[in-house]
Amino acid sequence: MFKQLGLIGCGLMGGSFALALKRAGMVRSVVGYSKSPSTTERARKLGVIDIEASSALQAVSGSDVVLLAVPVAATEATLKAIRHLVTRDILVMDVGSTKRDVVDAARRSLKEQVGSFVPCHPMAGKESSGVEHADADLYQGRQVIITPIERTLVAQLKKAQQAWEAVGGVVVKMAPDAHDAAIAAVSHLPHLLAFAYMNGIAGQSGADDFLALAGPGFRDFSRIAASDPTMWRDILLANKTELLAQSRKFRESLTALEALVAAGNGEGLATQIRQAREVREPWRMGGT
Ligand code: NAP
Repeated sequence: MFKQLGLIGCGLMGGSFALALKRAGMVRSVVGYSKSPSTTERARKLGVIDIEASSALQAVSGSDVVLLAVPVAATEATLKAIRHLVTRDILVMDVGSTKRDVVDAARRSLKEQVGSFVPCHPMAGKESSGVEHADADLYQGRQVIITPIERTLVAQLKKAQQAWEAVGGVVVKMAPDAHDAAIAAVSHLPHLLAFAYMNGIAGQSGADDFLALAGPGFRDFSRIAASDPTMWRDILLANKTELLAQSRKFRESLTALEALVAAGNGEGLATQIRQAREVREPWRMGGT
């Protein structure tokens, strides 16, 4: 049981965590801070936070657990702003979609207190951002990847695990680099492709007529193209090396399929489609 959650970034992810932790009876009060005072005020009015803070440092003051739920590019500045109040007794976590850059930022900004920081990435979310979409059930049954480093304090790691389990998460631990390589393949690349695909259609004359005819296949394939531009700009840039490696593999695969189509090689094409189907069909989302 925590005394006070200091929430920095009262949006979809942070707001959902606050609502779920309160519902689980794991925290007495939530003090929140967001960049725009209007967001912080909305979070209080919606009952996501109990008290509005006017700075990140103020949100941390008196808190025994702190969650950073800001765009990954804002991690370092935020940690620098709060570092004077971070002690061995405070658990500090994030929810950022990339981990190598976040861990590097934590080492630089928290220095000897970096052990209090437990890097986390919940495999949950939606395209719609903002506190009005916060949902106490968002983390229910979803994997939460924790990427501890050698200096992470065991006591804080245990508390982080308990907090995520209390909000319904299924905790998986791995190294930051392994996280970034895997997530580039299953999340960052599909987003890049969805953006490219939509722009490829939109750049054609007759695009509106094409889109008017689209059905469920298009809906499923393109859903994530509606994601938040700022958030995804930051993520794609933060995981550049792994993302570009995955993009190269994708190009090779696409080129091979195009060659089969161009050659009219139905047998080869069917083999490739069968292979894809055999991997996709039995797949189930982790944690559920
Ligand atoms: P969001 O709904 O837009 O919320 C982000 C919040 O952070 C907003 O309230 C924003 O405040 C605030 N903020 C931005 N810069 C800040 C700063 N410098 N200091 C304090 N607050 C700041 O976005 P989200 O979907 O919750 O994403 C937050 C994090 O979760 C990102 O790092 C993302 O990588 C990660 N994540 C997202 C998903 C997903 O599906 N959405 C999934 C997994 C992980 P204003 O309203 O004032 O701008």
